[in-house]
Parts: sequence; structure tokens; C-alpha cells
Amino acid sequence: MGENWRQTYLRSLPAVDTAVMAYKQNNPDNHYPHALMVQAVQEIVETLRRQILTAENEKELKGMKLTPGGLATRIDTWLSRLTSPSLRRVINATGTVLHTNMGRAALADKAKEAMEEAAGYCNLEMDLLEGRRGSRHEHVEKLLVSLTGAEAACVVNNNAAAVLLCLNTLAAGKKVIVSRGELVEIGGSFRIPDVMVASGAQLTEVGTTNKTHPADYENAVDEETALLLKVHTSNYKVVGFTADVSMEQLVSLGKKYQLPVMEDLGSGLFVDLTPYGLEAEPLVAKRVADGVDVLTLSGDKLLGGPQAGIIVGKRTYIERIRKNQLMRALRPDKVTLAALEATLRIYLTGNPLQEIPVLAMLSATAAELQERAEKLADRLRQEASALITVDTREDVSFVGGGAMPQTKLATTVVAVRPKSGSFSHWVQKLRTGEPALVGRVQDDWLLLDPRTLSIADEEEVVRCLM
Ligand SMILES: *Cc1c(COP(=O)(O)O)cnc(C)c1O
Repeated sequence: MGENWRQTYLRSLPAVDTAVMAYKQNNPDNHYPHALMVQAVQEIVETLRRQILTAENEKELKGMKLTPGGLATRIDTWLSRLTSPSLRRVINATGTVLHTNMGRAALADKAKEAMEEAAGYCNLEMDLLEGRRGSRHEHVEKLLVSLTGAEAACVVNNNAAAVLLCLNTLAAGKKVIVSRGELVEIGGSFRIPDVMVASGAQLTEVGTTNKTHPADYENAVDEETALLLKVHTSNYKVVGFTADVSMEQLVSLGKKYQLPVMEDLGSGLFVDLTPYGLEAEPLVAKRVADGVDVLTLSGDKLLGGPQAGIIVGKRTYIERIRKNQLMRALRPDKVTLAALEATLRIYLTGNPLQEIPVLAMLSATAAELQERAEKLADRLRQEASALITVDTREDVSFVGGGAMPQTKLATTVVAVRPKSGSFSHWVQKLRTGEPALVGRVQDDWLLLDPRTLSIADEEEVVRCLM
């Protein structure tokens, strides 16, 4: 009643067939399949119908064009979304180095080149010297052995897969002892108790949240026990009245009861970053030297490589892990292995702090970042002062990726905001631009942290803001 306008709008909605026909006639050069055009029009008409039904008053619908011409613009947009890639390059100006939502580690140039090289045919599982079948793990195993001092190594899809595979191989149907202080959850979907269930192993919790002693492990060992597990508390710290069992103590317990000792290291660091103001994290080689039997770590956290799960340890265990049927389901592809191999080789023979972006970003000094921020701000004042207000200020950047949550790295950010118009609309426009630009939003300022920008990125930031 009194809503004739709504009925009028609903009646003007075109029939799908008619709209498709009109679009085809007006766009004879458009060669999308007929079924796709029908789907486009169906979705668009349905969206319009919902808008009409939920509109509070006629004014809300003023701009709605239901003519063939008006629909054509919407159909063009719908169809062009199909032809442009969904996964796109993003300029990460947030200062968070391992930004999980932006693909964690930015890869080294050598890793990118290796990925492209391996994308065609390659010797993934071929021994070229002997002309025989080879193993995909060989390409990285020697490098991992040299870098860590472990006897053997293999690689899977990610660290979650590595933990699952190790637990399943070493302890399915048996008990695994873990400290209550180490029952971690990483990023919502990786929880030690749940991974344990999925692996078929049985979790035996010992100690308390803040204190676990060697005797707690000893009291829990029985003939059903297959493994002692330590989990690195990557994304939180238990502080105050605390005690945990060191790796040396756990290894000697393992020897005493003839049980293997495994550690889920999480990040897995190959270079000491404490000189650059980062928290102390266990180094992989140190853990191997401590005598741990099996270690798992991520490829795309502090290591700075592709998404991968790295398993290093004693040969007898690694051999059993490799033979597990699950390996087939969890193994990495050639492109990942190529990137990982190239990244590991930088650690062995290159200059990791310069060549691996994650390490270069984490070790950038406050003075360096201040200079880069000032330079970028000057450029923006020259090129874009008609559109934006530019400022610089001291701030902090984060490691991210659930690693070193307490580390705040001193930086200088460039703060920008539009001189007119809606701030949130402007931020969205930058985020959906080509390339996409994502910074940190604070009190209607967009903060751009040079820590996570390459020199080439800085050029593009200027273009995005012009
Ligand atoms: C990050 C992390 C994982 C999960 O690793 P992904 O490579 O993301 O699968 C598992 N355990 C610990 C301790 C971690 O820090």
C-alpha cells in the first residue's frame, strides 16, 4: 500500500532471455559462451530484485538503470571479473613481514627464477647422471643436511603436514607425551590436540600450563608411549612463575627410556637475528646438535622460502617417514621444491641477510627506514600534494606469521590521507587498484611502512597515490 513505486520497479526488471538477447545484439564482438551470459544476467537481475525488495524508499532506487544499456555495464563488469585473475600482486605497506593473508614470505629473486625454470619439464624425480628414477627429496636434502648438521631430511606441503606425518609415522595407535604449556593453536586451524587426533596418536598431557618438570614426563612414560614431543610456543609466551623442560633434558629422558624425541619448531631459524633486536629463537642447527631425533619447521616463516614443511633428523626416522603412505598425499610440487632449493642455497653460499627479503626486512635498521620514509614522503609531496596530505612519524613494525609476537621493530612510516572525499572509499580504491596497495589504517590516516616495501614497490606506491 502506498508502495506503487516498488511494484513499478519490480515490473521493469527485464526477463533474463530478453536481456541476454539485447546484450548480444549490442555487443556482437563479445564471444563469451551463451551459458555464461545467462548466468551473469540471472545473478544481476536477482541482485537488483533484492535491492528493490529491501529498499526503504523510492529515493534509494533513483540511480537504478533497468534499460538494456544500464544492464550492459553490469554485465561487462561481471564478465570481465572472470577474465582478470583473482590472485593478484599486492604491495604490502603494512610493515608486517610475514603477513599470512598476503602470502607470508616474499621470495628471493633467485627463488622466483628457479620456480619459472622448473615450471616446464624438470628432473623432479630423475637422476640425470644415471638415467634412472630419482627422488624429489634429493634436491633439497643435501642442502638441509649441510645447513643443519642433521643426518637426513625430507619436505612436505607445510609444517602442519610435517607434524601430522611425523606423528602418524612414529606414534599412530600409541601415546605421545606433551607439556600442557605447549598445547598451541596456530592461526585458528592448527591445534596440537586436533592434529594428534588426526594422526591417530594419543595425546598424553603432562605438567601444568606454567610449569612442567622432567619428572612429569617420567611419571607418564609407560609401554604404550611412543614419542616425547616438544612444541615451540611460537605465538605466545608463558611468563612469570614458570619452568619448562629443556631440549637437553628431554633428549636424555628419551635416551633413558629409548623413546624418540621430536620438536615442532614452527618458524625454524637458520641465522641468529638477536643482533638486529629480534627475540631469541632456537636455531635449527643448535637443536640438531642438542640431539633431537626429528624436527619440523615451516618453509615460509622466518626461513623466508615457499610454503613447505621441512623435516630433518636421524636417518632411521626420516626413512620411515618417507615410506609412509601419507607422504604421497602431502608431498610438495616441483615449483615449491625449486623455490626452496634456491632459498636454501642462498643460506649456504650466498648472502642471506641481503638476498632473502624476509631477513633483509627484519634486519633493516631504524636509521635506514627513517631515511627511506623521508625520501618517499618527499616524492609524494612533489607528485601528489594536490590530492593527499603527507606526514612521517615513528612507529613499529611486526614480524607476523605468529612468530616473535613480542618483537616490536622500530620504524618510520609515511602517513597519508586524501585532501577531500571519503577516507574509507579512498582506502578501498587503493586496495582494489592495480597493483593493490595495502597499508595500516589508523585514525583516518593510511600508514605506509617502508620495511616491507622494495625499492621498486616505492616507485609504484607513488604511482598508486598520484
Ligand atoms: C606455524 C606453525 C605451525 C604450522 O605451520 P604451517 O607451515 O603454517 O603449516 C605448526 N607449529 C608451530 C609451532 C608453528 O609455529
